[in-house]
Amino acid sequence: MALTMEKKKNGITEAIEKIVGRENILSDEEALYAYSSDSTNITKPYSVADLVVFPTKTVQVSEIMKYAYKNNIPVTARAAGTSVCGACLPKNSGIILDFAKMNKIIEINKDNLVCIAEPGVVIEDLKKEAEKYDLFYPPDPSNLKVSMLGGSIGLSSGGPHTFKYGSTKDYIIGLEVVLADGTVMNTGSTCSKDVTGYNMTQLFVGSEGTLGIITKAIIRLIPKPEATKVLLAYFDTLEDTAKTANDIISKLITPSVIDLLDKNTLATTESFYPSGLLTDKTAALLIEIDGFKSTLDNQYREIIEICKKNNSSFIQTADTKEEEDRIWITRRSSFGATAKLAPNVMTEDVVVPRENIVTLVKGIWQICNKYNLKTCIMGHIGDGNIHPNFALDLRNEEERKNFEQAKKELFSLALSLNGRLSGEHGIGCEKSQFISQALDPGNLKLMKQIKQLLDPKNILNPGKIF
Ligand SMILES: Cc1cc2nc3c(=O)[nH]c(=O)nc-3n(C[C@H](O)[C@H](O)[C@H](O)COP(=O)(O)OP(=O)(O)OC[C@H]3O[C@@H](n4cnc5c(N)ncnc54)[C@H](O)[C@@H]3O)c2cc1C
Repeated sequence: MALTMEKKKNGITEAIEKIVGRENILSDEEALYAYSSDSTNITKPYSVADLVVFPTKTVQVSEIMKYAYKNNIPVTARAAGTSVCGACLPKNSGIILDFAKMNKIIEINKDNLVCIAEPGVVIEDLKKEAEKYDLFYPPDPSNLKVSMLGGSIGLSSGGPHTFKYGSTKDYIIGLEVVLADGTVMNTGSTCSKDVTGYNMTQLFVGSEGTLGIITKAIIRLIPKPEATKVLLAYFDTLEDTAKTANDIISKLITPSVIDLLDKNTLATTESFYPSGLLTDKTAALLIEIDGFKSTLDNQYREIIEICKKNNSSFIQTADTKEEEDRIWITRRSSFGATAKLAPNVMTEDVVVPRENIVTLVKGIWQICNKYNLKTCIMGHIGDGNIHPNFALDLRNEEERKNFEQAKKELFSLALSLNGRLSGEHGIGCEKSQFISQALDPGNLKLMKQIKQLLDPKNILNPGKIF
């Protein structure tokens, strides 16, 4: 049996080597094992891939898919591998396509406000390159220093700026996609408006590599806001926190960021990265506004007034770039601080209509008390997207079981509040068992039919979403 497997693996390696060259293949056991995990905490790999391939051009991806299609070999696309829902884990071995070597920004066209780039481009590099042209690419997953375009399209990643600017799906206007049988297809265009037929581009955005392999993307850019202003406001009740967010929006101010940090997040961040955070408050709001410099001071003052009216017990303002950075560091350190609480952090990602945010956060606190779980809650209150980060030791059977139960109750709670299973992290294999609870049956059936049509042999990232 082992010999047959070995023979099969050698056969695949030989065939793929002819397409990409030996230098673009990893097949040693240690490397393959490393690719059987992502940023999801799993206790043991689902499977180990037969080989990892680094394509350098579309034609290679097409040839690999033709070979995989003919031989029924699963193919899992991988960008930086930071998915927290198991989206890029190989479930049935096969080939992993690592896009690290397809990392060119091909063109930025300032007149058309578009960029054309390959899937291995790191998000921060894309943002910095756009800035050279005074342009802005808003999607900003917190790990943008490593996460890549292909992965963030695969998951339609969001981030703090989603409330004002939308998520990845709002910026991808065209794609080059290699289909399951190796056919290369182009969707969309560089036109800013395009209703020529179905919106095929969006079918692939957020599809987690289950419908096609993205080899190029046309990205919409927008003019870069001239300036930003940031503050951190503390509150003694969640109700005041949420009302502040609503009142700011009712005053026709659209903050570029309006993020929530709960009491555990404040205390944990302060204990590991002391910066003077107040740890006796129930919650804090990090609020950023952006736009023309001349328009910001008035809005800033108005936001401070609204915070005070809603009983904010302390407001940390920022007059300089350094002070702004200090506030941002707090927010950016919060996940790292949580990771110091226990050997594992399980990041969840539910979203509800904003009117239900207080009920959601209070419900999460209750669930965590019930199961005795340490949890730091942070999230994007502007778009109702909350991330409870559970710190636990997965080796401890009782903690693990409690977490599994808490997770089920978390999803039921979000769904009962008209929410969804994910706002930006996706479904992967970690949430797939819950998808039928979340989707209308007709919708789910059609999704499965689309998958069957585009991937009749189920070789594209099998075992994800459904
Ligand atoms: C510390 C931390 C912070 C995070 N913060 C955020 C956040 O603020 N907002 C947010 O939305 N997410 C966040 N995430 C989740 C995740 O990291 C991001 O969504 C990220 O953009 C995924 O990018 P990646 O390059 O790591 O993709 P990967 O994890 O490698 O892949 C993600 C999915 O895309 C598919 N894929 C990859 N490349 C291709 C391709 N070429 N063609 C087709 N499919 C492809 C994969 O198969 C997989 O299904 C965070 C994760 C961590 C660990």
